[in-house]
Amino acid sequence: MATSIPKMMKGVLVEKTGGVEVLEYKTDLPVPTPKEGEVLVKNDFIGINYIDTYFRTGLYPSKKPEILGREAEGTIVSTGPGGELYNLKVGDRVVWMGTSAYAEYTAAPASKTHVIPSSLPQGVAAAALLQGLTALTLIRESYHVKKGDFVLVHAAAGGVGLWLCQLLKVVGARTIGTASTAEKIELAKKNGAEFMINYKEEKDFVGAVKKITGPEGVRAVFDSTGKDQFENDLEVVGRKGTVVSYGNSSGAVPPFAISRLSAKNVAILRPTLFNYIATREEFEAYTAELFDFIIKDNLNARVHETYPLADIARAHTDLEGRKTTGKLLLKP
Ligand code: NDP
Repeated sequence: MATSIPKMMKGVLVEKTGGVEVLEYKTDLPVPTPKEGEVLVKNDFIGINYIDTYFRTGLYPSKKPEILGREAEGTIVSTGPGGELYNLKVGDRVVWMGTSAYAEYTAAPASKTHVIPSSLPQGVAAAALLQGLTALTLIRESYHVKKGDFVLVHAAAGGVGLWLCQLLKVVGARTIGTASTAEKIELAKKNGAEFMINYKEEKDFVGAVKKITGPEGVRAVFDSTGKDQFENDLEVVGRKGTVVSYGNSSGAVPPFAISRLSAKNVAILRPTLFNYIATREEFEAYTAELFDFIIKDNLNARVHETYPLADIARAHTDLEGRKTTGKLLLKP
């Protein structure tokens, strides 16, 4: 069934952990053969996520050599042995989550492959999937946000951050966002944050949050930065509030004594998206809902830049250097 699939492809290989210098752009990588349960996708837009840098540096362990990247959109060009799965067909325009995305072709898991609604413009699905699903599952499952809740969102102008701002606005929450520059603050406000604090400049961060919320603090914190903001999170969260620590952009949170939580009966979570969408049913339901939100509520899939695949080192440098807002995409 496969037609005109080449033997070799372009892609980015990482043979050992390290800085951006370990990202090797290659033009002679073998095109993968899909196994049972997989579809071969010719990628048109590849999503970059902060997690890719953790696998590059070794903060998260993974087998090397490795093609990084967790998501892309493109067209199914062949299916694995065992026939059609989940009604996915050659020629379908799809978005998928898996591994080895930084390449022209990927053998993607059929269970995490979704047909893109025809009304979504090119590139939007790749810009939305992983970060949008993270935001949606965080506000539903980590802490089910309610109308009128004060919610603190760190790195509000980042990839996940902008989706959180927009979705929280739709559900009627009152978002207090953080960002490190005036431009990022403006952008997060445009995307739904009601209040913004420059956490790089504000000397009394806890006081600044409490000035907005009153002494009761916020109902929930969504913190992607990790180490730098963790102590502040425990200060600004209210009695019976929830701290959701879901990332490490400033480094991992050091171990702490759980007895500290009893001061305000605080709940604390360290979730991963992958455990919220582990089954086909969960993945499909949340993905369909995310695209519905984008279409019906006119959500904005902000793309910082679409980099050529060969410029991967520059893209990682920009992301880690806090130079970006929204999504970084790659074009093979
Ligand atoms: P972002 O676009 O949010 O990441 C970059 C932003 O993080 C920067 O622009 C910066 O914003 C902020 N940041 C704060 N401190 C630092 C620092 N010390 N170094 C670099 N950046 C910093 O990326 P993503 O949206 O892809 O991911 C955000 C976070 O969420 C990551 O930690 C990622 O691992 C996590 N994540 C977790 C998931 C999960 O399942 N648990 C799923 C998806 C993402 P500013 O300049 O405003 O401070």
